Amino acid sequence: MAVALRVEIRNGGRTAVAYNFSPGPAVLPSSVREEIVAEIAGSPAGVSIIESSHRGKAYDAVHWEAMDLCRRLYSVPDEIAILFLQGGATLQFAMVPQNLIRPGRSADFVLSGSWAKKALAEAKILGAGHRVAGSSEDRGFTCVPHQRELDFDSAAEYAHITTNNTIYGTQAHVFPDTGGVPIAADMSSDLLSRPVPWDRVGIAYGGVQKNAGVAGLTTVFIKRELLDRESSSTPTPLRYSTYAESDSLYNTPPVFAVFCFLLVLRWIDRKGGLEALARENGAKAARVYEAVDQSGGFYRGYAEVPSRSIMNVTYNLQNGDLEPRFVREAETAGLVNLAGHRSVGGVRASLYNAMSLEGCEALADFMADFARRNG
Ligand code: PMP
Repeated sequence: MAVALRVEIRNGGRTAVAYNFSPGPAVLPSSVREEIVAEIAGSPAGVSIIESSHRGKAYDAVHWEAMDLCRRLYSVPDEIAILFLQGGATLQFAMVPQNLIRPGRSADFVLSGSWAKKALAEAKILGAGHRVAGSSEDRGFTCVPHQRELDFDSAAEYAHITTNNTIYGTQAHVFPDTGGVPIAADMSSDLLSRPVPWDRVGIAYGGVQKNAGVAGLTTVFIKRELLDRESSSTPTPLRYSTYAESDSLYNTPPVFAVFCFLLVLRWIDRKGGLEALARENGAKAARVYEAVDQSGGFYRGYAEVPSRSIMNVTYNLQNGDLEPRFVREAETAGLVNLAGHRSVGGVRASLYNAMSLEGCEALADFMADFARRNG
């Protein structure tokens, strides 16, 4: 089943099918791309969903279907409010400590990558209490810190984790046991890719542009009891309660991004929901890791095996000089956006929800062929 983005790339007069391994914004299901085009091209001039009032009936239906379907597919319990915000995970790095660390209290941070460090940096700027509960920085962030290395403060306001480290290709396959301290989870790069243990979560957040839509919408899942922590000195648009009390319609929401989110949610539903998606995501990543592991050392996985991410597969070539050629030739073969993050180098294949198994097989075949030709 071909659900990956098919970009027509013109290559010396030849047209090839491309698989888009972009780390985000990322590939959309092809049916969703078609629905977006149809909505805009097929609506009477001036009244497509992105040209309509966010207080009108058409948007209202989109907004509520997206909210309800997100709650159902993600099995989000009633005690957790779902908010539609803007500003990305980056704004959440500041909003979470601003709203959830009370004076004289502190939060714990697990440092599993540079995004986690950015989250900690914002707590520091706010002058909020903070503490590092564990770090894998001394290992080049090649793993998420193991449970036995984590030391949580039982009085912490929350324990901040990054569930998937996009740059390094590592993932927390189980949420850590924090001894009852609510988890604050940056789920930017594995949002809606697998079920979440909501009973451990105080707040979770992520933009939808990798796994569930286009840039512009940030989803926040917050336990309603935590809304009481906010301070009267927090500006209104920076308070979670503002959005919880207005059903995320306090001001103009990102209507286009919410519309696209709804289309992706319907697509996830048609595919059989999150459990089915998680199984497929596992099989996709396994295919690419197999190509790394069966290369006789030609390719070397960046992440330690137990921390390997299902979403971002990162590896280097034994001969680093060949890496630019690998990326270039892959592109010519229709496999695009494979260059690793500048801080890690090498190759990063992002296999979010809409990347097909077919795309992963095409990449694995290309890897084997490239190794044969250059080994
Ligand atoms: N956290 C992680 C794990 C990310 O991958 C990213 C984006 N790549 C961010 C945070 C920042 O997200 P945004 O650009 O949506 O603010």
